[in-house]
Amino acid sequence: MSLEVEKEKKNDNILVSTLSMMRQAIDFANLSPDVYEHLKTPMRFVEVGIPVEMEDGSTKVFTGYRCQHNNVFGPYKGGLRYHPDVTSDSIKALSMWMTLKCSLVGVPFGGGKGAIVCDSQRLTLKERERMTRSYVRSLGSILGPEIDIPAPDIFTDAQVMAWIADEYSNNMREPSFGVVTGKPLAVGGCVGRNEATGRGCFFVAREAAQAYKIPFENSRIAIQGFGNVGSNAAKLFAAEGCPVIAVSDISGGVYKEEGLDIDKLIRHVNETGFVKGFSGGEAISNENLLSVNCDILLPAALENQITGSNAHDIKAKIVVEAANGPTTPEADQILKENNILVVPDILANSGGVTVSYFEWVQNNYGFSWDLSTVNKHLQDKMVEAFRNVYGYYCENCIGSDMRTGAYMYSIMRLAEAMHYRGWLRNGIYA
Ligand code: NAD
Repeated sequence: MSLEVEKEKKNDNILVSTLSMMRQAIDFANLSPDVYEHLKTPMRFVEVGIPVEMEDGSTKVFTGYRCQHNNVFGPYKGGLRYHPDVTSDSIKALSMWMTLKCSLVGVPFGGGKGAIVCDSQRLTLKERERMTRSYVRSLGSILGPEIDIPAPDIFTDAQVMAWIADEYSNNMREPSFGVVTGKPLAVGGCVGRNEATGRGCFFVAREAAQAYKIPFENSRIAIQGFGNVGSNAAKLFAAEGCPVIAVSDISGGVYKEEGLDIDKLIRHVNETGFVKGFSGGEAISNENLLSVNCDILLPAALENQITGSNAHDIKAKIVVEAANGPTTPEADQILKENNILVVPDILANSGGVTVSYFEWVQNNYGFSWDLSTVNKHLQDKMVEAFRNVYGYYCENCIGSDMRTGAYMYSIMRLAEAMHYRGWLRNGIYA
């Protein structure tokens, strides 16, 4: 089995399930087959070799991808991921989710995603910098503030974005920091961007609890993944009086019935790099985290974590998909049968791209907002998006699930824009 095929298997090919979900939503909404025709294939997909001079003087050529799925609403937008398990198909699926996410939350961007296949934690800082700059040079003119705007994702951060902004600006011979979002404040970043995805998850979790008629205050939270999204969401839940009873990362997890001390846990992770070894709770496995007795579960790590083999064990009443694609289609079916509300990724984690949009707007007109303005606009956007999607789902998709509702709602908006741009010669509907 080739490495790519092996990885696809591990990834439970999320491209196949995304395409099937899009097709189903288009059929349910009675949209023209031409809508699927436009959405099934990215407008551009590039694979590049990225030569990097390593610390020992050798040269290593990494594989990089950039997928530009659809730009009917505006420039392509989406994260850049550094991970050894990335495949071309997973990047295509992730870019499609970005298209759906931007449409759903109403920001004028299209969908994009990029990656470098690498074990970035094994690279030195210098190697990471050289690799990032080499990636920008390899992509050349297909990036740009009005063309395609990357942002942080797994194992990339504000520093990586700053290198991209610098390399791009050098190539353009002018400062052009709007080419990326999620930058440090010193080079045109936006206050609150770092926490935005976790904060957005918190807002939709609160809305979901209200819609599903479970008391939000004191609800018990479990979070898989304690990186940017998971740890920021944990802080907000804890601050609002919702005990975070279990947390895990790649190293394992911790559990405490009365709620973990999140500030202490964050200090521990900053010092040791991992959740494992935290003395303020008992150790649990990653698998056990998913099945703890909680009210709201946030998968905030990777794709395909809730599967046909563990979905039956989930006791949460609501699953808020902080990560992209954490639930397989088989698991979706089981959760639906067990009456568990799944707030789909394209809604739940859209806080990141929403504040990225705020950052891009501020870069464009050269003025910075304060934190309360950013958070207020974020809250308004997330609450509005949740209510729109949940309302649409309740009206049109009873018997189905909220993911189908979210896909239908989002694709309807895309279809309308395609229609006005003249991409659907036979009309919007079948
Ligand atoms: P991150 O790299 O900061 O954190 C990832 C976390 O997941 C780490 O704690 C890591 O240890 C953990 N993890 C990795 N493999 C795991 C495993 N097998 N089991 C349990 N934990 C594991 O990444 P992030 O930015 O927090 O992103 C997390 C998810 O959220 C991803 O799916 C990403 O695509 C999605 N997302 C992120 C943003 C953003 O703004 N950062 C926006 C939208 C969606």
